[in-house]
Amino acid sequence: MVRKSLFFKPSGRRAAFRCRLLKWYRESARSLPWRENQDAYRIWISEIMLQQTRVDTVLRYYAPFLKKFPDVRSLAKADPERVLKAWEGLGYYSRARNLQSAARQLAERPGFPRTAEEWRRLPGIGRYSAAAIASMAFQESAPVLDGNVKRVLARLAMEPRPVAARAVELKFWNEMDLLVQGPRPGDLNQAMMELGACLCTPAAPRCPDCPVKDFCLAGKTDAAAEFPARSRPKRIPHQTVVAALLFRNQKFLIGKRPSHGLLGGLWEFPGGKKEPGETLEEALRREAREELGVAIGVESPLPPIRHAYSHFSVTLHPFRCRILSGRPAARYHQELRWIRMEDICQYAFPRATQKILEQLCPVGAGAAQQ
Ligand code: SF4
Repeated sequence: MVRKSLFFKPSGRRAAFRCRLLKWYRESARSLPWRENQDAYRIWISEIMLQQTRVDTVLRYYAPFLKKFPDVRSLAKADPERVLKAWEGLGYYSRARNLQSAARQLAERPGFPRTAEEWRRLPGIGRYSAAAIASMAFQESAPVLDGNVKRVLARLAMEPRPVAARAVELKFWNEMDLLVQGPRPGDLNQAMMELGACLCTPAAPRCPDCPVKDFCLAGKTDAAAEFPARSRPKRIPHQTVVAALLFRNQKFLIGKRPSHGLLGGLWEFPGGKKEPGETLEEALRREAREELGVAIGVESPLPPIRHAYSHFSVTLHPFRCRILSGRPAARYHQELRWIRMEDICQYAFPRATQKILEQLCPVGAGAAQQ
């Protein structure tokens, strides 16, 4: 790794930058529940929830999750279905599964790992999360680099290349590694992220209020809005998906998705992607044959639902259907169940399925999410 600072020349300016940033953080940081003490369990849970997720969303889930699972042992021995239910709506459900796998490993050992290297050996923990936990809980001088930090660094240096470029990432990791070698590395990491989240925001950077504007090339030249350099936007694929709502004796059929992969372990209505050239009704009948081994009749549609995942978006077409022949068997799902509307609070559903349930029964589905 290059050990020379590409930002601060002479290098004494780095100490002055650090000092200014830490002072601002001490005086202005938001009060967030995982900052209240240096408890490794609470910090770890917050860091996993914050992966790909906004702070205001995490705030709605954090306290209820800790109430249900107050320590690593309670999380390790919990029914996985309860963990998924507590995670319902946060998305990226592999995080919840990995969190519990990691808790089971942690429950076997005395105390928490103290270094980023050790944290990285646990499921679901990459370089960023390991460094964040070790620096905040144990004051290890391990650097973090997330989207907020990249934006701040890109503006400080007026970096002309997109921040996703490999060479730029290496340069930024190097700079953060130098920056974090000082007092209070956990606060330094958080201060850089806080600066990006609160002042050096993507659309409206507040340079006149910024504690480090004297060090910032973009801030000094009024060019903050031009950085980071834009990369070519990726095309997000779109899928058309059908869902069969099969009813029997006041109950409807749901299936539990395979435990690994997208939305693993969550419950949904049977259905799937529409193939090219198929009508929605043909797609429903084919999916019912393939997934359940039954022939169905397609009755009335419910309003379609649009939902965006990180790498693709879907339009989901739910239809009321009825079984014409056969007995549903779990050919794709781990398990099938006939449930009543009042039972839905016992199951964890993806957000798109929750939207269908809200159409079927606005009050019941809303209550299930609380
Ligand atoms: Fe960001 Fe402006 Fe501060 Fe530079 S001066 S770090 S662009 S808020």
